[in-house]
Amino acid sequence: VWGDVDADPAGVFADVTGADRAYWDTARTFGREEVAPVIDDFWNRADYPLELARRMGALGLLRDGVDVDGYEPMTPLAAGLVNMELSRADGSIGTICGVQAGLAMRSIALCGTDEQIAQWVPKLVRAEVWGAFGLTEPTHGSDSVSLETTATRVDGGYRISGEKKWIGNASLADTTEGGITVIWARVIGGEHDGNVRGFIVQQEWDGYSATTIENKLSLRAIWQAHIRMDAVFVPDSHVLERSTSFKDASRVLFATRLGVAWSAVGHATACYETAVQYAGQRVQFGRPLAKSQIVQERLARMQSELVSMQLMARHMTERDAAGQLTPEQASLAKFTCTRQARQIAANARDLLGGNGILLEHRVARHFADVEAIHTYEGTETIQALLIGRSITGVSAFA
Ligand code: FAD
Repeated sequence: VWGDVDADPAGVFADVTGADRAYWDTARTFGREEVAPVIDDFWNRADYPLELARRMGALGLLRDGVDVDGYEPMTPLAAGLVNMELSRADGSIGTICGVQAGLAMRSIALCGTDEQIAQWVPKLVRAEVWGAFGLTEPTHGSDSVSLETTATRVDGGYRISGEKKWIGNASLADTTEGGITVIWARVIGGEHDGNVRGFIVQQEWDGYSATTIENKLSLRAIWQAHIRMDAVFVPDSHVLERSTSFKDASRVLFATRLGVAWSAVGHATACYETAVQYAGQRVQFGRPLAKSQIVQERLARMQSELVSMQLMARHMTERDAAGQLTPEQASLAKFTCTRQARQIAANARDLLGGNGILLEHRVARHFADVEAIHTYEGTETIQALLIGRSITGVSAFA
């Protein structure tokens, strides 16, 4: 049962109060009481938990720190703690929030006009429309800067053609809410010729087709899609006016990278607390695993890694709140936390023996899900190369 294990043994979050605490408690209660009892079944069936996503909207959790009229401001710390708790419950749930709020909504909040913000942001927050962020392409992942999707200038708007791969929430046109996908495409013609811009594409529009990617072994309870666009007409009203180059897509990703670090803390917390509980209960050779020195040393190592992740995430978030966070520091947080989460997940999975690969023992799902956060929003290697560039002053990848 969650809560039996002290998941904050160094008191890193002991001083969290007020609105931050309220957001944190809401996310934790939602995760423990509404997500945990049902999520294995969704994961097993690779089904999208629409009702849980709607509940996140109703609870005001789909924010990722974006300020929205009518809602209590969500500080970067509150956003981080929410990310942590959602992923502690389940990685797909955390990713649904990350895609809907962190990527889609933030793109519009950062790059949209006042009218676009008024039209879309309240709906995205309340989960009255689903939001997706389409940057990656089948042939451009780490080098998405070389994206090939085109937006050709025509009378009254643009025609978009190309393909996007791995796009979360992009195949939800058939739901009651419907969906929008922020598509990043290279402009042909007009005053922005050659530049990358963002476009709000409604998923039901002619020429847009999205196929949910099947047979994933990670994050099975959120759908990612392969999108094909054939001359989709996007009116001028749907062009993100304040996006003028690839740097704007990067700005959005920079703002969400720390969120992925917090998700890693959530996964690691789930694995750590499960390992501690299991070691106390599982009896082999006539004594609980927890009574063996080597198991205690392993639990100590897991705790040490978990606390170092919590400290890193919190420290970088404080820099963010003070407007001092650099892109390299955000990369360092993602690099460190996702690496360590992977280690903790592997250690916990092993400690549970055969049960460690069964869904009902909680760790297996996190073990699989952590693989996706290791890769998305810039792989571990790409983060290392960004950090390496800042150390040496030399780019090893571009
Ligand atoms: P590649 O770029 O082909 O990389 C393959 C390997 O090569 C990696 O290990 C990489 O680190 C390494 N590599 C690449 N370049 C170099 C280099 N110069 N030097 C050394 N090593 C290198 N994208 C979106 O736009 N929207 C989404 O909502 C979204 N959601 C996702 C959800 C999931 C579950 C996943 C798996 C991906 C998602 N993505 C999304 C895409 C994600 O951002 C990319 O998968 C990621 O950026 C890596 O790109 P790639 O898969 O093409 O791998």
